[in-house]
Amino acid sequence: MATKSKLSVVEVKRPSREEAEAAISTLIRWIGENPEREGLKETPRRVVKAFEEYFEGYNMKAEDILGRTFREDMGGYNDPVLIRNIEVESRCEHHMAPFIGFAHVAYIPDGRILGLSKLARIVDMYARRMQVQERLTSQIANALQQFVKPKGVAVLIEAEHFCMKIRGVRKDHSKTITTRYLGAYKKDAGLRADFLQKIKGT
Ligand SMILES: [Zn+2]
Repeated sequence: MATKSKLSVVEVKRPSREEAEAAISTLIRWIGENPEREGLKETPRRVVKAFEEYFEGYNMKAEDILGRTFREDMGGYNDPVLIRNIEVESRCEHHMAPFIGFAHVAYIPDGRILGLSKLARIVDMYARRMQVQERLTSQIANALQQFVKPKGVAVLIEAEHFCMKIRGVRKDHSKTITTRYLGAYKKDAGLRADFLQKIKGT
């Protein structure tokens, strides 16, 4: 396992927007281009604005999204709740290249349920940070476990990494699949089989 940096996001002093734009300008010059030419004049501003979107997950907290679960009469429902095909668009922390795919998230409620859109929002929050797919998978599962306290959580992510598609080994069709099972899903192979079966669809 990678060593965990003690430096958290809040402790890093953020540069100003102007400094960030100047950094993009530097990169443009570094590749041999002229940041002053007409087509590139606005590029640093646009890139920094795009970065705000790519990495907006740093301005969000899991408790704001998952903090409000509710107890509800579910009529005796105690099977898994699964949302499959949640679009994932993240960036690898090694190259800042996109990795794109789908997350499939299931939990088995233990009295509490979650607004369904919140599952998608928690995926987005962690995806919109510098990531490795393994950690993204774990963070989603751990957050659900922590805030919803279900009987079990299953997360599977399948993604294509552009740092493998368009550079490096240039394997255009490889997919990376990661899973994290907690609680009942960890103990029960039948539940995992049911999860994998439902992901595939009928
Ligand atoms: Zn990469």
